[in-house]
Amino acid sequence: MSEEKKLRNIDELGEFALIDQLTNQFENRNPNTLLGIGDDAAVIALSETESLLLSTDSLVEGVHFNLMYMPLKHLGYKAVAVNVSDICAMNGIPEQITVSIAVSSKFSLEALEELYEGIKLACEHYKIDLIGGDTTSSRAGLMINIAVVGRAQKDKIAYRSGAKEYDLLVVTGDLGAAYMGLQLLEREKEVFQANPNIQPDLDGHDYIIERQLKPEARVDIIQYLKELEVVPTSMIDISDGLASEILHICKASKVGCYLYDEKIPIDAKTSMTAIDFNLDPSTCALNGGEDYELLFTVKQEDFEKVNSNPNMTIIGHITDEKDGIYFIDRSGSAITLKAQGWKHF
Ligand code: ADP
Ligand code: MG
Repeated sequence: MSEEKKLRNIDELGEFALIDQLTNQFENRNPNTLLGIGDDAAVIALSETESLLLSTDSLVEGVHFNLMYMPLKHLGYKAVAVNVSDICAMNGIPEQITVSIAVSSKFSLEALEELYEGIKLACEHYKIDLIGGDTTSSRAGLMINIAVVGRAQKDKIAYRSGAKEYDLLVVTGDLGAAYMGLQLLEREKEVFQANPNIQPDLDGHDYIIERQLKPEARVDIIQYLKELEVVPTSMIDISDGLASEILHICKASKVGCYLYDEKIPIDAKTSMTAIDFNLDPSTCALNGGEDYELLFTVKQEDFEKVNSNPNMTIIGHITDEKDGIYFIDRSGSAITLKAQGWKHF
């Protein structure tokens, strides 16, 4: 009898361990590949001073979106925005995208045109060109993959790995709203499924719903940083929740961190909805995800510049690796920071 080989389940592994397991045998062969796997975008040398940035992201029906409450036009816009966000996370400017779709016959031409209307709006808003893609059929549902190309000055690129002890930890905008928007949409969907005569009660929740359905990439922050003459020492975009992204920066930079609960920017509408759902607003910001805000570190000497910008909030500071990664709660207790993040498996 042949020995049975135990097959490993990818659920137990988790997304990041899986990527690592699949890719750790690869080496870069071309000298112009300045950075491959491991950051928000790959970095390819264009000249002595300029680099090309390349990133890709997929949205899968039933995993990343539900067409019961996600209009196709919004979906098209969001698919572009989340890709643009990864170029912003490198301190770069997005320039081109390709769009590939796998689509089942349940979709009409008109439905797909709506999707592309959203893509077009995003191309106009972010000043990027749609330059290609691919179209195939799918057995069930819709999948969109977008690849984005951007550009940056080599010495201005912000990697995940550049944070240093004493740097300030900064976040843009406010957090947790997209997650609460999703909770609300899911609740109303269930109410509707249970009784289709009950109309969704979304009044007064425009902000959090818009944050879920129509997130914006923070291209404006890249412009502010340029005007302020601040180059982040490290940067990442918040797709999986603040906690997960802080851990990515700390791991890549080999540093520790103190994050202060009382400093985390959370909109009052997000907090109110969280409390309504019996959730702790800070937990929503830490683990919610899909905010597409930017998390970055700057040198102490940039304190005034960052502090004076209303779009940026200092939420902590970087420590030595051996000091650990801590969340300081409102009573002053230090709790080891852990990430739940999104697990799509
Ligand atoms: P982000 O959240 O910024 O989109 P991910 O967590 O998806 O980044 O990916 C982390 C890194 O792993 C990136 O450099 C990405 O290009 C790379 N990566 C993800 N999936 C794969 C894969 N299947 N094969 C090769 N590289 C991958
Ligand atoms: Mg990213």
